Amino acid sequence: MANFFKDNDDLQYYFDKGIDWDSLAQITEHDFADADGEGFSSTEEAVDFYREIVEMFGQFVAEEIKPHEREIDANGVNFVDGEVVFPERLAGIFKKIKELDLHHLPIPRELGGMNAPMMVYFMNSELMARADVSAMAHHGFHAGIAMAALVFSALEGSSDIDPVTGQINETRWQKVIEEIASGDAWGCMDITEPGAGSDMGALRAVGEQDADGNWFVTGEKIFITSGHGKYHFVIARTEDIDPDDPMDGLNGLSMFLVKAYEDDAGGNRTRIVQLSRVEEKLGHHGSATCGLVFDKAPAELVGERGEGFQYMLTLMNNARLGVGFECLGLSESAHRAAVEYASERGSMGKTIDRHEMIAEYLETMQTEIQGIRAMAVTACFHEEMSQKLALAVRHGDLGETEQKRTERLIKSHQNKARRITPLLKYFAAEKAVEHARTSLQIHGGNGYTTDYLPEKLVRDALVMPIYEGTSQIQALMAMKDTLGGIIKNPQAFVRRLAQARWRSLSSRNPLERRVAQLQTVSLSAQQHLVLRTAGNKVKGLRRKPIGEWSDELTKNWNPKRDFAFAMLHAERLIQLLGDTTIAVLLLAQSEKHPERAEVLERHLERAEPRARYLLDQITSTGQRLLDKLSPEAAESTSQAAE
Ligand SMILES: Cc1cc2nc3c(=O)[nH]c(=O)nc-3n(C[C@H](O)[C@H](O)[C@H](O)COP(=O)(O)OP(=O)(O)OC[C@H]3O[C@@H](n4cnc5c(N)ncnc54)[C@H](O)[C@@H]3O)c2cc1C
Repeated sequence: MANFFKDNDDLQYYFDKGIDWDSLAQITEHDFADADGEGFSSTEEAVDFYREIVEMFGQFVAEEIKPHEREIDANGVNFVDGEVVFPERLAGIFKKIKELDLHHLPIPRELGGMNAPMMVYFMNSELMARADVSAMAHHGFHAGIAMAALVFSALEGSSDIDPVTGQINETRWQKVIEEIASGDAWGCMDITEPGAGSDMGALRAVGEQDADGNWFVTGEKIFITSGHGKYHFVIARTEDIDPDDPMDGLNGLSMFLVKAYEDDAGGNRTRIVQLSRVEEKLGHHGSATCGLVFDKAPAELVGERGEGFQYMLTLMNNARLGVGFECLGLSESAHRAAVEYASERGSMGKTIDRHEMIAEYLETMQTEIQGIRAMAVTACFHEEMSQKLALAVRHGDLGETEQKRTERLIKSHQNKARRITPLLKYFAAEKAVEHARTSLQIHGGNGYTTDYLPEKLVRDALVMPIYEGTSQIQALMAMKDTLGGIIKNPQAFVRRLAQARWRSLSSRNPLERRVAQLQTVSLSAQQHLVLRTAGNKVKGLRRKPIGEWSDELTKNWNPKRDFAFAMLHAERLIQLLGDTTIAVLLLAQSEKHPERAEVLERHLERAEPRARYLLDQITSTGQRLLDKLSPEAAESTSQAAE
């Protein structure tokens, strides 16, 4: 029987050795406080259950979805009388998911779920995406939205959670969560508008309050995945902004929960939010991408007004992790199709997988998938730990010392998740496109026909670097966090650079020396960027060592002027950061499990020359284009035109 979990050695490695299940099971099971009830009494018991779920899911997607992926792609979804209608096959798949209770895996038991860790849920997402990414995308808007409702309620303080058992006695959107957990509803995330995608400061939908304090949302949203769902987390403007401050746009946003329709007992639907269109897309055909019109739609404010951007970041962090796993599934599918084809197709006396270039393509794909999976699992672990520990602190009874210790732990998990998540989203999405394209190339002329899978994978993959924050936005976020961190604490940066240099020369482990050398190259690129960036701001600083920079440096930044050079090179920087992060993670794995050294060596072989090239580009190019973009150049061009 086909099983996408059992046939994947790398996933099995993580499940058996590469995940700290003790921490995850303990926090998810609230220190096994409900062992006498429905909960587990030990990590072993919990992990046996997690394995059962992933194995069942691996078989389900391999047998019930994968064989139909071409049909799902060919049929798409229908838009009939203002409603999205899934074709029979897709509707049947989601009916089975509901029957198997797979919609509600991570939702707590007391709210109708199975209380599985997010890690298990995301691993399943990878498996499902390998079968069909568009089906996975829709599936993600069930438990994903229910969990967002729970986390938002906990954050705004509207949940009553037992401090000892961690059980949720009451939570603000309990009915919504239970309805989603039962498989009868799902939700979506409504951010994008016709005039505002990456630039959220330009969002125009408004949230308004009537004299009785009731909220209503008015505006248009576009490109909303699974926008035919019942529950919408909508971001809208509630506060006036300073028109002279281009950075003020994010401050006036608030988050709302809007119910899009109501069905009566007879199944008749009254729509509160209208579906205006369903996009005809290049790929992702089994997923409905909707346009929506809100006309004074009754809404519930989440948290306080003006906090919308913060809530949206929480939602988006999880969504970006989800896309990371989604891309992994697609890459896995592309790689496996290529391996199978190349092992059968003959050319010039041997199968093409024996030809050097093709063999290298295949090995590169495998290596990159393994590197991305290392980032995905690590980012997911830290995100889940930080969110669940934060809940424990907020609602638990930890005592002062334990509370302080836990807060430090949360910060450490948050920092790691925050650092790796944009790298994961960027790498996984860009590589999904590359892997699909390489798979098509390996299939030759057949790859260009609809008889073979890669053309579908290419079409499906192309959206990955666009949604949930484009690749360029991920690069900017990573760059700002990295350089901002150095500017805030230059001494710590100097120490890190010195340590990396020292380890690159002195470590007894040759692999550690190579990883440290890679880090040195990445840190040198950061140093160059920060010197150029700071040098633009404070004249004369470029000649001073970073460790001697004054406080003045951290004041009065103008992101547009000061970061221009770094923005130009942000994508090169994120590539360096990603390669280095993967190397560090694989090194840690290989120190515990020597069999992982081989994966690290394959990664280093590719990352080392790439890093030198990127550093060269960062240190030797860019000024000509920046001069061309400068306000002075723009002015002289316009004067010349006059
Ligand atoms: C299939 C699909 C599903 C989607 N699902 C959802 C959903 O569920 N919910 C939702 O709210 N949205 C969704 N979106 C919208 C998606 O998130 C946006 O399309 C995306 O954020 C980009 O915004 P945009 O299309 O307005 O492009 P723009 O923001 O106009 O960007 C155009 C190009 O300019 C680049 N760019 C923009 N600003 C900068 C900058 N400062 N520096 C460098 N480059 C820049 C971008 O990277 C991009 O390459 C979906 C889109 C698609 C196609």
